[in-house]
Amino acid sequence: MEKLWAPWRYEYIKKIVSENQDICLFCKIVSESNDEKNLIVYRGKKAYIMLNRYPYNNGHLMVIPYNHFSEINVLSDEEMLEMMKLLALSVKILKDKFSSDGFNIGINLGKIAGAGIDHIHIHIVPRWNGDTNFMPVLGDTKLISQSLEESWKILKSEFEKM
Ligand SMILES: [Zn+2]
Repeated sequence: MEKLWAPWRYEYIKKIVSENQDICLFCKIVSESNDEKNLIVYRGKKAYIMLNRYPYNNGHLMVIPYNHFSEINVLSDEEMLEMMKLLALSVKILKDKFSSDGFNIGINLGKIAGAGIDHIHIHIVPRWNGDTNFMPVLGDTKLISQSLEESWKILKSEFEKM
């Protein structure tokens, strides 16, 4: 897991947050209307799904509640239920459309655990057989075979069918 939750990403996020210190990135993004620019693929009732702009792998999604919480225990039952449903839906779509062989799914709670943004979110990282061979070697210049824009288009149209 330490290979997946790589520290170089934290530097990116720290930069973004320090440039917009007064506002949380996830709260800001969801308040805007340009979902293509912001890589949001689905808006639910209590939570939304977006592509990670600095992905560990192609199709790396995040499920994020609209409410700004940094703790897991303050989420409402409705939020927890919808986040789990969106997680399951994301896995299904990534399996169907990206032919993923497996997934790493997780939440980083607190800075020590690698949370770059203090707004709780679930990472869904698709995995393919053999991808561990190059991941640790290339580090932050990891190969992403499909552009974020392409991924967004595919995923957006799939989530719209749901
Ligand atoms: Zn927030």
